[in-house]
Amino acid sequence: MLIKINLFDFTLINKLIRLGYEVEIESGAGIHAQATDIDYEAAGAKISKDVLSTSDVILSVQPLTAAQFGKVKKGAVTISFLSPTGAADSVAAAANAGATAFSLELVPRISRAQSMDALTSQALCAGYKAALIGAELSPRFFPLLMTAAGTVTPAQVLVLGAGVAGLQAIATARRLGAVVSAYDVRLSSADEVKSMGATFIELELESLEGSGGYAREMTEERAAKQRELLKPYITKSNVIITTAAVPGRPAPRLVTKEMMSDLAPGSVIIDLASETGGNVEGSVAGETITTETGVIIWGGKDVPSSLPFHASSLFSRNVVNLLTLITKPAADGNPVSLNIDFADEIVKASVLAHDGVKQGASA
Ligand code: NAD
Repeated sequence: MLIKINLFDFTLINKLIRLGYEVEIESGAGIHAQATDIDYEAAGAKISKDVLSTSDVILSVQPLTAAQFGKVKKGAVTISFLSPTGAADSVAAAANAGATAFSLELVPRISRAQSMDALTSQALCAGYKAALIGAELSPRFFPLLMTAAGTVTPAQVLVLGAGVAGLQAIATARRLGAVVSAYDVRLSSADEVKSMGATFIELELESLEGSGGYAREMTEERAAKQRELLKPYITKSNVIITTAAVPGRPAPRLVTKEMMSDLAPGSVIIDLASETGGNVEGSVAGETITTETGVIIWGGKDVPSSLPFHASSLFSRNVVNLLTLITKPAADGNPVSLNIDFADEIVKASVLAHDGVKQGASA
């Protein structure tokens, strides 16, 4: 079985080859993660310019485009991020091509699937980076310092959205010595926030627990009330990190321009939700903006790729774990083969196209 894989983890390549898989890497795929074609060849992979038409399984970070799906063989399997709403063209093209397409966003949050959960591994990278960028852009120290020239008070960091990325941002800001508080619409995150040494902000609002550990969308009335109640916490913070998301919906608006006008000059806002609509009014993905009143707004864009070594390494383990769920290694003289159990809970939830038909969340 030939696999196109544009990720890197050399030990994984060795492991796959030992199990009987043939691995081909797109030339130059690892260059931003300090992995050269020569490294991949040394690990036993072949380097290719285009293996779309020959591979049985294609692993990638981004979904194949509709044009790329036009080149894959009938029955090929793809594993990548593939949003049923955000990448609807790719899903339709996968079905037209007779490919079996798996979406990493839809891997269910059950314990058996934790090792395949790429949303979690990438959110971990993004949260860590968010705290570091906040510290970098802030004109203040994060820790308390007692110096001969006087005492430096610690930075006040506020994290809005205490899921995977938010908790990692809290942990990182705490390690740098900041005083951290956090809010999430899921009351169940309060203990996790406190266990990181941060203060959980409790507002007099109902908890919005959804299914699978995610939040529910809120009404505009509740959103306005939440903004009003959070305003005093926002305006006294030196660095605000926003990570709030609701699956399949635009990011909730948590910080408005009107709130920003009350922030001290030099305050920093890190918006990790910039690419999905923004938690912060006026944030632009990939840009750092300074407002007229001196507030710095940083809009996140493909943030995990700014930590390429570990983002790639964790991601590749996630996809290879999913790959091994749907394939059978070579044994007793038989080559590696596909072994997709469509009744399996993980397969059922994450497959979006099979045998010419859209499946599950895209059907
Ligand atoms: P996410 O990226 O969808 O959202 C980030 C956070 O934003 C969530 O905590 C959400 O509650 C919060 N949020 C949404 N709207 C908000 C608003 N208006 N104001 C403030 N906060 C808001 O979520 P995520 O980080 O991927 O996961 C959330 C939780 O799921 C985790 O904390 C964890 O408990 C759970 N989880 C479970 C598994 C598993 O069991 N395998 C894996 C990963 C995560």
